[in-house]
Amino acid sequence: MAKKQDFASKTMKLAKHGKSCPVCGEFYTYVKTVDMVASEKPGAYHFVEHVVPVCKCNEKAIYG
Ligand SMILES: [Zn+2]
Repeated sequence: MAKKQDFASKTMKLAKHGKSCPVCGEFYTYVKTVDMVASEKPGAYHFVEHVVPVCKCNEKAIYG
């Protein structure tokens, strides 16, 4: 139960943008994801942050 509350407060904080999806009508939840990207040097990587809008259409793809 505590876990569930944690998750709710996080998503509420991120959902301030208030846009809704034209497809499913859900308000987007914005989730920050970090991708590891290979740089030009062999064996070297850097991290790129993305903020991804999540709704019913893509939540399965984002959350796995
Ligand atoms: Zn949608």
